[in-house]
Amino acid sequence: MADDELPKPEPKEIDEKLSIQLRHLLEDATLKGKPYGEEKCDNCLYYSEVDQKISYCWHPKLRILVGAEWWCQWWEKIEE
Ligand code: SF4
Repeated sequence: MADDELPKPEPKEIDEKLSIQLRHLLEDATLKGKPYGEEKCDNCLYYSEVDQKISYCWHPKLRILVGAEWWCQWWEKIEE
């Protein structure tokens, strides 16, 4: 039955390239997977949908999906 087995999934070249690009992006932003005190993505100006656990960050240097509890150096207060 070995002939019927599907090949084991493996990352492709594009995945390695994207992984490196995204890693550099994270380092530039000092993006962390946890809040910085009271500051976190879901109370940041750039977080698109505050009621979602994952949402689009529209900061011009990021433009990626981020988690509600993440944080980066470009955090900005939402003005009332
Ligand atoms: S700018 Fe930074 S803190 Fe604000 S939503 Fe984007 S990643 Fe999160």
